[in-house]
This record gives sequence, structure tokens and C-alpha cells, in this order.
Amino acid sequence: MDSQHRAWAEISLGAFRRNLQRTQSLAGGAAVWPVLKANAYGHGAVAIARACAAEGVARLGVGDSAEAMQLRYSGVKLPLLVLGTVIDAEVPNLLEHQVEVGVHSESRVRKLGSLARAYGKKLGVHLKVDTGMGRLGVRPEAVLRVAHAIAAEPALQLRGLMTHFASSLGTRSSFTDGQHALFLAAAAELHQALGARPLLHCSNSAALFTGLHPIGDAVRPGISLFGIMPENLGGAVGLEPVLSLRTQIVFIKDIPAGTPVGYESRWVSHLAKTRIATLAIGYNDGLPYRVGLSGNGQVLVRGQRCPLIGTISMDYCSIDITHVEHAAVGDIVTLIGKDGRDSISACDVARVAGTIPYEITCRLGARVKRCYLEEIPALEAGAHSITP
Ligand SMILES: *Cc1c(COP(=O)(O)O)cnc(C)c1O
Repeated sequence: MDSQHRAWAEISLGAFRRNLQRTQSLAGGAAVWPVLKANAYGHGAVAIARACAAEGVARLGVGDSAEAMQLRYSGVKLPLLVLGTVIDAEVPNLLEHQVEVGVHSESRVRKLGSLARAYGKKLGVHLKVDTGMGRLGVRPEAVLRVAHAIAAEPALQLRGLMTHFASSLGTRSSFTDGQHALFLAAAAELHQALGARPLLHCSNSAALFTGLHPIGDAVRPGISLFGIMPENLGGAVGLEPVLSLRTQIVFIKDIPAGTPVGYESRWVSHLAKTRIATLAIGYNDGLPYRVGLSGNGQVLVRGQRCPLIGTISMDYCSIDITHVEHAAVGDIVTLIGKDGRDSISACDVARVAGTIPYEITCRLGARVKRCYLEEIPALEAGAHSITP
């Protein structure tokens, strides 16, 4: 790829599809519903959704109604589920475009029911049980009451029963097992009392790759589909990173010993001659400010590791290239991904920044050009098109 952009993310839809296929075989008979919230974890939701459609997935998870609308307007007709909750103002869009949503309380059921009746369309809902995440979701003892309320609402249709595990780090724990047991008990209760058999879904990437069985009718992996596993789980061998983050050198200069570089003069050169390069990427592009503070950030230039020096600026950052022969303005710089035989992962960057890899790709800025290495699969017939 030649460097026509200041900062860009190379995204391999081929790697994504292979990760999806591996996940599908791991999930056994359960359906895989890829979670594409946060612009598909920064990878570009429309292109990723089209890749999912081409692979025949049955449903996609999104974070809010705006994300669902972005997919609908680009012609994605798959069933969509807003995993969390919505505010009232989002409900008309859900109804108009047939997007499902999680529900968490009797009062929400009544509110959604009356909005749907007023609108004259049915709303598909997934009842969320709080089995230990302690965030959204009804307590297990309230599941039946809320399910009755849903059944009493003609405009609501119970499509799923879901829970969310509190661990995304991939250590199989007794806490996760306890959550799973509570979830299965709630499902059994629902079946016995109401004869209802909604789709059961609970597994995130960590649960899936730590071999939690049985896994219900569907699984909801997000991060693993992008080839990122927070704790490098054994079961995740074979997943390929989907995204590489690159920029280019825009300026090079030699500085004498004792020259400070960057805001607050946190870094000062100590060699008689240090060659530094300025890169066209900063914290506005999603490069964490803390990577600069840590003093341990690195990038790859001509296959060699170069330290990030000084603080990260909004639009720029600096590296030390004293040891890189022939480095020149226009050289491609890799922040995440492979260059030669070396590579840096999103997990590596997260570790240096003191955060989780999710945040690294989710926060890639809007001006980071998403460059797809393979053709984005065509839209379904009759759909109108927008550029992803
Ligand atoms: C984000 C999310 C997922 C996916 O989690 P990963 O750890 O990325 O696999 C699954 N379910 C829900 C409800 C989520 O919000």
C-alpha cells in the first residue's frame, strides 16, 4: 500500500472472514451473531457487516439505534439487535427499520409496548437477565414477571433471552460458571411457566474461547472476530489480526544533546546527534496520550523498532530513528501490525497505554482512513449504497 494518507488502517476482510469461520466451527451448532458496536470496534461497521452478510450470518449486534440506522441506510437487511437499551427518542427508528432491542424492566416493557402500539408496528425484544454483570438486565427473580409483561403487550414480541458475562478477559472462572447456571435456570423457568422458548444467547468472546458449554442458540463474539484476544487465550490460536495502523514520516531532523522534544519537554536527547522523525498521527487519531507518557511506546520503520519520544500531540508524534539507516520522509510507519519480520499488536499498545485492546481500536479517529485490502462484498439486491 503506498502512502496516500496521513494515517490509515489497513483492514483485511479476508482475515475477518477466516476468523468468523473459525468462530463458527468453535460455536458448534450455535449461530454466530457478530457484535459490531463502536463502528465494528473501529474497523468500519458497514464493510464488516457486508462481509458478515456474505458469510451468511443470521443477526448482528449493535450498540445503539444510530449504528443500526447506519447499517440499514447502507442496505444491510439482516436482523439487528441493539444489545443494550435505548432512550425513548430512538424507538421510532427501531420500529420503522425493524431493529430489535434488549429490555430490562417492567416499566420499559410498558413504555416500549405503548410506543410500538402508537406507531402501529411490532418490536422484537430480547429479555436481558442480570446474572452478575450488575449493569443492565433484570434480576433473575424478576424474569418471569417481566416476561409476563412482555407477553401481555401485543406490540412486543419476545425473541430472545440473554445475559452478559462480567469477564471479558478470558479466564474461565467459577463466577462465570455461576452466571451461566443462573441464566440456564431462568431459561428453564421461562419455558415451564410460559411455554416460551426464546433464543438463548450469552457468550462473548472470552466465554466462547474458554470453552463454556453449552452455549445456547447463538453466541455474540466481538473482539475475537477482529483477531484480538485480551489474554492470548489458548483456544484462540489461529485467529488473525484484521487491522494494521500505519502513518508516514513527514519530517526528519538531527538534534544535539540536551534538546527537549514535545509538549512539557518531557523527553530530552542525550546523544551528541539524535535523528528524530515526526509522524502524521496524534491522539486525535486514537493514539493514546499515555503511550507517550509511559516512555515505552514503539513503532516499526523499515522493519526496525523505534521508540516514541516525548508526549503525543493532537496531530503528530515523534520517534527516534537514529539507528535506522536510510530512513526518509514518506517512509511508512507501523503502529499496529507487521513490518518485515516484526509486529506490534493492539494488545501490545494497550499494555503500554495501561488500557484494554478494545479501547485501542474503538478509539481510532474518524480521519484515520479505513483501507480495505479485499473487495467489500456487494450489497443485497435492491439496496441503495453509501460509501463505508
Ligand atoms: C460487546 C458485547 C459483546 C461482545 O463482547 P466481546 O468481549 O467483544 O466478545 C457481547 N455481548 C454484549 C451484550 C456486548 O455488549
